[in-house]
Amino acid sequence: MTDLADRAAEREAELISDALAEQHRHDPTAGKTPADSATHCAGCGQAIAEARRQAVPGVLLCFDCQDEASWLEAAARRNGRRVAP
Ligand SMILES: [Zn+2]
Repeated sequence: MTDLADRAAEREAELISDALAEQHRHDPTAGKTPADSATHCAGCGQAIAEARRQAVPGVLLCFDCQDEASWLEAAARRNGRRVAP
């Protein structure tokens, strides 16, 4: 018979695993390296600065486009709409 402490530890491990999976699902740069970073912005086509490519591994957007996308996503969430990743 599994005792209460064992079940609690198993449940805690499940919750941590779920939280990490959820975080990974919402972080498009998770597991990426600077080599995965785009050289040009997927939004406007401008070159992405090397410093940004290194600082945000897997980055696809320039700072301005990322800022605009974040603002639009936040506005959509406030309005109760789901935003595609
Ligand atoms: Zn851009």
